[in-house]
Amino acid sequence: MPTKAKNPHLPLGDHKTAPWYGKDILSIKQFSRADLEYIIRVAHEMRIMVERIGTFDLLKGKILANLFYEPSTRTSSSFMAAMERLGGAVIPINEVKYSSVAKGESLPDTVRTLGCYADVIVLRHPDVGAAALAAKYAGKPVINAGDGVGEHPTQALLDAFTIREELGRLDNLTLTMLGDLKYGRTVHSLARLLTQFVGIKLNYVSPDILHMPKDVMEEVSQKGLPQNEYATLDKVLPETDVLYVTRVQKERFDDHAVYEKVKSAFVITPEVMKGAKKEMIVMHPLPRVTEISMEFDEDSRAAYFRQMEYGLYVRMALLAMVLGKA
Ligand code: ASP
Repeated sequence: MPTKAKNPHLPLGDHKTAPWYGKDILSIKQFSRADLEYIIRVAHEMRIMVERIGTFDLLKGKILANLFYEPSTRTSSSFMAAMERLGGAVIPINEVKYSSVAKGESLPDTVRTLGCYADVIVLRHPDVGAAALAAKYAGKPVINAGDGVGEHPTQALLDAFTIREELGRLDNLTLTMLGDLKYGRTVHSLARLLTQFVGIKLNYVSPDILHMPKDVMEEVSQKGLPQNEYATLDKVLPETDVLYVTRVQKERFDDHAVYEKVKSAFVITPEVMKGAKKEMIVMHPLPRVTEISMEFDEDSRAAYFRQMEYGLYVRMALLAMVLGKA
């Protein structure tokens, strides 16, 4: 994983002791358990600061380029809000069709350009490996905000923060991942992240054609985590501490008829949740389509809207880290 300190011409000053200064964030595999605990601590401090004073000038004078080649609501706007809450500024490119990408500019050239104007680049792209490619050319730290069906490391970090804030621990948990585990990049990153913790049991519940990819399962089993696949939820729901629901990723299907067949394979309702513990949480990276009914939203176990708020604090922490202020 890249450890290069970019911006070699910046005076080190207060960057000297910042371990993530100038680094790219491309994959969850970069993070050790100690790193994850550090991020959770910084995110918690960001939460306290936002609750107390809202906005402060930790990154005053710094610029973020937010470059999104795929639709986004939460990731894009929470990175923008994070930068602005830290006193920095944002170049928002949410619609690449209005940028030089529409004229045929390559990703390396686009990020080279943005690297001239910004101090950090957040990139979402439909191709697996796009963030790693961008990091080669950007000249500034690149943060992967989702690369196709690959990874979504900042989502996994905010998922971990959510679990810690809500349940008070990241060890000794049974997690059930439900829905589109094949194309859902967030579960790929989260399963990998959880290998850093102990006493974790993973259940995967999905339609037959949307199983967790074998490479992710192999990585998880190499770390010794028990994991099992199921076709229905009822057997594992009673033991579940975290039910992580995902959307069937319509945009990744070549055949629309196949999508139609599986899109409503699982729907979480108050009735279904009668089979779950009282002390557990339901998460979802959002957007939700039909996989969690709105009737469940009022249940205290429904953590998905709190989860998106936690994303702000985690992204504040990450920006502060790569810009040498945490
Ligand atoms: N927002 C998440 C992602 O970008 C989940 C989703 O789109 O279903 O991967």
